[in-house]
Order: sequence, then C-alpha cells, then structure tokens
Amino acid sequence: MPKKVVIVGAGAGGGLTASRIRKTVPEGQAEITVIDKTGRTDFQPSYTLVSLGNREPSQISVSMDKFAKTGIRSVKGEVTEVDVRNRMVTVGTQKIEYDTLVLSPGVKFDGKSFPGYDSAYHFWDMENSIALRKKLSEFRGGKIVLGVTTQMYKCPPVPWEMAMMLDDYFRARGIRDRVEITVAHWARKPMAMFGPVISDPVGRWLEEKGIKTIDGFKLTAIDGEGQKLVGESGEKVDYDLAIIAPPHRPPDFVSGNADLASSSGWLDSNAKNFRNRSYDDVYAIGDAIAPSIGIGMAGVFAHFQADTAASYVAGDIIGSYDPVPYNTLGLCASDTGDAGWIAYCDFRHKIADARTPFPDCRSMGRSRILKVAHAIYEKYFLASIYGGWY
Ligand SMILES: Cc1cc2nc3c(=O)[nH]c(=O)nc-3n(C[C@H](O)[C@H](O)[C@H](O)COP(=O)(O)OP(=O)(O)OC[C@H]3O[C@@H](n4cnc5c(N)ncnc54)[C@H](O)[C@@H]3O)c2cc1C
Repeated sequence: MPKKVVIVGAGAGGGLTASRIRKTVPEGQAEITVIDKTGRTDFQPSYTLVSLGNREPSQISVSMDKFAKTGIRSVKGEVTEVDVRNRMVTVGTQKIEYDTLVLSPGVKFDGKSFPGYDSAYHFWDMENSIALRKKLSEFRGGKIVLGVTTQMYKCPPVPWEMAMMLDDYFRARGIRDRVEITVAHWARKPMAMFGPVISDPVGRWLEEKGIKTIDGFKLTAIDGEGQKLVGESGEKVDYDLAIIAPPHRPPDFVSGNADLASSSGWLDSNAKNFRNRSYDDVYAIGDAIAPSIGIGMAGVFAHFQADTAASYVAGDIIGSYDPVPYNTLGLCASDTGDAGWIAYCDFRHKIADARTPFPDCRSMGRSRILKVAHAIYEKYFLASIYGGWY
C-alpha cells in the first residue's frame, strides 16, 4: 500500500516539499496530496512587481491543477482542523487521512485586529497588490509612508526595498519631485536586523535616493480620517498613501492546537529535521515556524527547510534515502529600484542562540545586471514545483 503523504499549503514550503518527495519516491510507494485554500502557488516576491505594473498575476502564479501531471493529487479547500492523534485533516466536510503530514500554511493576515488598518494598502498578497497597483497608478503626488504592524512579517527587508522601487517608479513617471517617500519602521536603522554589513550600505542608498526613514517607530494605530500613522508614544506621521504590512498571525487551525503550536501560538518543530517534537509523522516548515525557531519569514528558509523535510519523509518511506542537512543560509536577490543586489546571511548561530544580535551576512554586489537574478529565480521557483516552465 502506498503511504499517504498529505501536505498543507502549496506555497514555497509545501509546493517544494511535494515536488521534492515526488522526485525521490515512486508513485507506487507514496500517494501525495497537497491541500491549499487558494488552489494555486504564487511567487510572492513578485507581488511588489504586480503593484508597480511590471508583472501580471498570471505570470507569477500557477494553478494546483498542474500537480496532476507529476502524479500529485491536489485539494482546493481550507484546513480547519488537524487531529494528530487520529492522523486526520479536516477540509470543509472532508476528512483526509494521512501516514505522514507536512504543514507549511504560512500566515494569516488579520487587519481587523489593528486599529484603523482598513485605510491602509499593502502588497503582501495578490489581491491587495492589484488594489495597490491601481492606487499607485492614480497617485499624482504627496506623501507615501511604508510601515509594518507586527514585529514579524514576510520578507523583513521588503519595506525599504519597495521604497527604493517606488523611487525608481516615480522617476520613470517623471513625478519623483512631487512624491515624498518615507519608511517608518520599528528597526533602529534600515535593515538593522541583518547587522551593519547590510544596514550601512542600505542606509546610504536610501539617502542617495532621497528616501526618508523614521527609525525605531513602533506603529500602534492608523488614523484613516486624519491620514496619520500613530506611534507608541503618540507621535504622528502624516501620509497621503499608507502602505503597511498587515498583522501576521498563525492560521486558526494552528493557534488553538496544543499538539502543533509552541507557547507563541505558532507551529513548532525541531530545527534539525522539522519533525513535530512529539509526533514523528508530522513535519512543519516555513513562515509558520519562523517565530518558534527564531528566524525571519522568508521563502529561502522555507525552500531549504522543504529540502530537508522532504528528504526525511522520503527516507521514512523508502528506507535508504540520505537525509539533506538543513542549510541555514538565507540568500536574497533584492531589487533596489535602479539596480539588483545580492546578499546572503548564515543564520546558524542565530538559530542556536536567539540572543545572537544578527546573522553573519555578506553583500555580493549591486549592479543593473543583477536585476535579472530575481527574474531567473521567479521562473526556477514555479518550474521546480510544477515540473515545467510557466
Ligand atoms: C511582497 C513579498 C516579497 C517577498 N520577497 C521575498 C524574497 O525576496 N526572498 C524570500 O526569501 N522571501 C520573500 N518573501 C517571503 C516568502 O514569499 C514567504 O516567506 C514564503 O512564501 C513562505 O513559504 P510558506 O510555505 O511558509 O508559506 P506560503 O508560501 O505563504 O504558503 C502557504 C500556503 O498555505 C495556504 N494556506 C494557509 N492556510 C491554509 C489553510 N488553513 N488551509 C489550506 N491552505 C492554507 C495558503 O493559501 C498558501 O498558499 C516575500 C513575501 C512577500 C509577500
């Protein structure tokens, strides 16, 4: 009998895990099912480009139906419960049994929990990136402020990165002199969470581009009527357009489940093979474990965690597969508007001891030619999940 491998989430972590297992375990030995509420995989780093009108949604998104050609079953629906004691996942009225479960459900956005959030725009999902695109295309001048509502959010560098992309966008439209761009963020310096090797040059680039920063700004509310961001000690920042990361929370089926979550309410797993600490047939990876293991939310982490988790799952089934050790590197192909920039950080020491102030980072250069790195990875990402070019 083939083993039933069920994967929750068709994003960076879940999608890559499914394709990695399929490549190593023959169909007769594993029946793989991927469940996702959206029914598709997006290349999320390109949401910024959708907002700026440089990508159409169809260019960065693939339907889960395409899994069929590699022998993976897909189910479009929302997981509402996971019962690890009876090896059962609930999706609507369906109960899906598993022998091995891999969870990579990412985060839930909870704008309603933040005062005034409904007056903000954002680019952290497809639908809102499309709405922001319209808003930006109508923007003729004024103050744009970028910020975040929670300590943890997807892609820590992206508020400053998007500020530089907006600088380029408004220059191309010939109205940069009419737009004031500000990043108001809790970090004490731009990208301070990566240490001075990263934050020093980024600070310089922002300054050269005339982008303002309000460092150490902890956003507590948005006054939509008065068009002001309100900080922790009552300080106010005026805006005409607020682009703010929504509150990132654990998915509902995780937060209330003591078998799956750590005390933070986020998914828990050990950072060696990504198994649940009590149930060795359950794995958890990606953004939903980031707060529990003490790293940021990034696709590159989900990618390397998928490599490791998939190798252990394959080993469980075929018995002789060599496990892939967890690669703690974070590689970032970033966009600074006029140029691309590649940097990488090793998070090994940070994972071992959460008090380590920042990971060990290196900048590998910034130039116009490096802008292609993002586009290449975009194609590779979707192709490696669905086994073809889209
Ligand atoms: C604008 C932006 C830019 C980014 N840039 C970068 C970058 O340059 N580099 C980088 O490394 N990372 C980047 N990221 C972050 C990266 O995209 C995420 O960290 C990565 O996608 C996380 O993978 P994941 O599998 O944990 O979650 P996701 O990829 O978010 O996948 C989770 C999936 O689970 C599904 N799901 C959730 N709950 C349920 C449920 N209850 N039932 C069924 N399905 C469910 C969701 O629909 C989703 O498809 C960026 C993200 C954004 C938004």
